Amino acid sequence: MSEFREVQCNSTGGRARIFFAITETGHRMPVDVEPNEDGNVIVFRDAAGIPQARVRAKTLLPDEEGSRRYVSHFSSCLARKPDKATTKAGISAAREVLNGG
Ligand SMILES: [Zn+2]
Repeated sequence: MSEFREVQCNSTGGRARIFFAITETGHRMPVDVEPNEDGNVIVFRDAAGIPQARVRAKTLLPDEEGSRRYVSHFSSCLARKPDKATTKAGISAAREVLNGG
């Protein structure tokens, strides 16, 4: 079970489990469900319960200390299937699933 609402990225045949979080610039970013200590994304819920993503290199802000780290699916998806056109299609398909659900 994930603490975030999962969708699947079709670009990898539905095997990649991801969720969407909102970035600091207001964009929706796909994030791998499994936390990864080498990741550069931290995720937390805002007051409305919406997952918010913050891209951080090594240094976290004081109130972010102890946050779990995640990997952006934009990067991990390319690693799994280095076909950018397909990846983009897969991510937009996952968005449709999320919006339609
Ligand atoms: Zn993918």
